[in-house]
Amino acid sequence: MSDVLIPRRQTRQVRVGNVWVGSDHPVLVQSMTNTDTADAEGTARQIFELWRAGSEAVRITVNSPEAAAQVATIKTKLENWGCKVPIVGDFHFNGDRLLRDYPDCAEALAKYRINPGNVGKGSKRDEKFAYMVEKAIEYDKAVRIGVNWGSLDQAMATRLMDENAKLAQPLPVEAIMREALIRSALESAEQAIGWGLSADKIILSCKVSHVQDLIAVYRDLAKRCDFPLHLGLTEAGMGSKGIVASSAALAVLLQEGIGDTVRISLTPEPGGDRTKEVIVAQELLQTMGLRSFTPLVTACPGCGRTTSTVFQELARDIQEFLRVQMPVWREAYPGVEEMKVAVMGCVVNGPGESKLADIGISLPGTGEVPVCPVYVDGEKTVTLKGDHVAVEFQAIVEDYVKTRYGEDGAKRRQTSSKTISLKAV
Ligand code: SF4
Repeated sequence: MSDVLIPRRQTRQVRVGNVWVGSDHPVLVQSMTNTDTADAEGTARQIFELWRAGSEAVRITVNSPEAAAQVATIKTKLENWGCKVPIVGDFHFNGDRLLRDYPDCAEALAKYRINPGNVGKGSKRDEKFAYMVEKAIEYDKAVRIGVNWGSLDQAMATRLMDENAKLAQPLPVEAIMREALIRSALESAEQAIGWGLSADKIILSCKVSHVQDLIAVYRDLAKRCDFPLHLGLTEAGMGSKGIVASSAALAVLLQEGIGDTVRISLTPEPGGDRTKEVIVAQELLQTMGLRSFTPLVTACPGCGRTTSTVFQELARDIQEFLRVQMPVWREAYPGVEEMKVAVMGCVVNGPGESKLADIGISLPGTGEVPVCPVYVDGEKTVTLKGDHVAVEFQAIVEDYVKTRYGEDGAKRRQTSSKTISLKAV
């Protein structure tokens, strides 16, 4: 973890099931399923996978009576599997009816996500929104008022456009649209409070699909309220485009202390792994030094000095090995998430980086002696060679974790820190 402290914007604290969101608490990682919620088994399995990957709250679509009817069953299944992750219900046009007709769904969810632009039109909008807020109060649930560029409250946008047209120097349309988003979120929050919802139950989001718009909107929103903010670039896209766009936008805001919970909205490849969005969110927070989730592997990019793929495979396999171990290690070996592992391609930077890591290996470059020195806590401990370097290095990492972060290691660390403080005295 970096020693650079990024001050968070001070916000209210909102409880969502068994977790808290707000500036007193670490930035929370969220995700969303893409299963049909009416398929209770499939949805529960995907929530479980997202949770195992590290998602601290999972949102599901609640769009039909069939979906609402399964929410409590999904929660029970998860609890039977030892998973108590808060489930967030994503409601749109018929949310009021679903919350009325399926009280067990209203009770099972930890938070309701309501998009004021998609609740209803005209006077119906307020009526339906008020009913959903009433249900949140009745069941003591948090609410995310989530405004979205693609479903902006048209009445609000038109009103602001008309006001702008009367100005001596009208503002650009983009600025008005951003203002409409922000006002829609803030005015909806005020309405909810007016109907009796505690301000400590409200989280806001204003999602847009362009990086600069997102940064501008959230900077402004952050100044104008003290609600915790949910960050996410909507429709970020697939693969590297989605990852880069989301990271670019969220990193700027997080660096300014803005953002209390994040979701990376990646479009998965057909049949692709949904947990990727959780891993990207964790890696973003970890590389920024905001939180630690999984030991990070430092690997060089490779160059003409290493023409085989051995070191690339080793770097990939060891990162995957660490990630797979984490659900168990997190409980058994506290602090292991801060461990640093280096996998380097040749002797140019290999030994140096390996010594800086907790545990590192330097593979032979082209033309170098085919041996792989391993460094533990800065000291060369063993040199591996032959066809089983990957397996042997993995075993060394596993032993290191048990020794350093296991009960005995924790005791030793306590003793040595006492020794250090005694010496300091
Ligand atoms: S450590 Fe060696 S192989 Fe890796 S990038 Fe540097 S020079 Fe190339």
